[in-house]
Amino acid sequence: MFNALVVTKDEESGKTSAAVQQIAVDDLPHGEVLVAVEYSTVNYKDGLCIGPGAGLVRKYPHVPGIDFAGTVEQSSDDRYKPGDKVVLTGWRVGEAHWGGYAQKARVLADWLVPLPQGLDARAAMAVGTAGFTAMLAVMALEDHGLQKDHGPVLVTGAAGGVGSVATAILANLGYEVAAVTGRPEQEEYLRGLGATQIVPREELTEVTRKPLESEQWAGCVDAVAGAMLGRVLKQIKYGGSVAAIGLAGGAAIEGALITPFILRAVNLLGIDSVMQPYDNRLRAWERIAKDLPMDKLEAMVQPATLSDLPALGKDILKGQVKGRVVVDVN
Ligand code: NDP
Repeated sequence: MFNALVVTKDEESGKTSAAVQQIAVDDLPHGEVLVAVEYSTVNYKDGLCIGPGAGLVRKYPHVPGIDFAGTVEQSSDDRYKPGDKVVLTGWRVGEAHWGGYAQKARVLADWLVPLPQGLDARAAMAVGTAGFTAMLAVMALEDHGLQKDHGPVLVTGAAGGVGSVATAILANLGYEVAAVTGRPEQEEYLRGLGATQIVPREELTEVTRKPLESEQWAGCVDAVAGAMLGRVLKQIKYGGSVAAIGLAGGAAIEGALITPFILRAVNLLGIDSVMQPYDNRLRAWERIAKDLPMDKLEAMVQPATLSDLPALGKDILKGQVKGRVVVDVN
């Protein structure tokens, strides 16, 4: 028997509730690899899966947790043996499959990535899907020509999980980082991560019909979308790119026009972490181990346990979580 955060649903009222319970290894779903989970984390999607489900969770009772890192305990797949350190993000684990908010998880070998040298399970979860996706975004911007001497790179939703890691990686790589935040009290935190310019959120939330604005940013990592992405596209320098990660400010791109694409050759790059192919996952985790300074990562961490998760799930849905939560499941 081991501890897990189990979400149940009352069929009559449709309401869900989450609590730490004991479950048995035999209760775990089918998979080739049994992992002794050490750490997990909290992403926006985890907030949905701990709480309302929002169409992501197919069956109850459910164990959420879209990310985890730990040690292989049993494996029927040649790629993994007991004692191997592994990390898992995506593949709809924690949504359609039981996830990492438990002391053990059983999953498909294809979903795992060996932990790169220099990164332990706790650090991997301080990174989590949010940080992994931030790295994918930085790689996409670089693959599309971003260079340090092109000018400042904008990060939106900067005090959130994706934004915090993107800020730290870009600054560490030597880029000038401008951080957009709606929380002015987080200025010191963002400057500590390496941002040199703070842009108040209100400067980018008004929808305008202007075809273009003055060229300001060499690139952008955008976790917000909505009116902000519509504005940012018009401010990107000639040939620059925006890596679109999230929708914290809305699913539409409000006020967007074709002009930045056809008059300034701007690129809008879609970033998905969930179905990302294995080779690129490996490349991203190796770059994280190399390019993300561990002291900056530590500054983002808020520690938590399984029993803190129901409250943290609510907080992240309200945009009230700063940086990265690391959940010690033991
Ligand atoms: P967080 O909640 O940690 O961060 C989001 C940040 O966005 C907030 O901290 C806030 O930053 C800002 N924000 C929130 N609401 C608004 C608003 N209405 N208008 C403008 N800014 C807002 O979430 P994550 O960083 O974990 O995730 C960010 C987004 O990326 C989410 O939409 C998530 O679903 C998505 N995502 C997508 C992935 C993919 O594979 N494509 C993977 C991971 C996440 P501040 O306080 O600094 O203003």
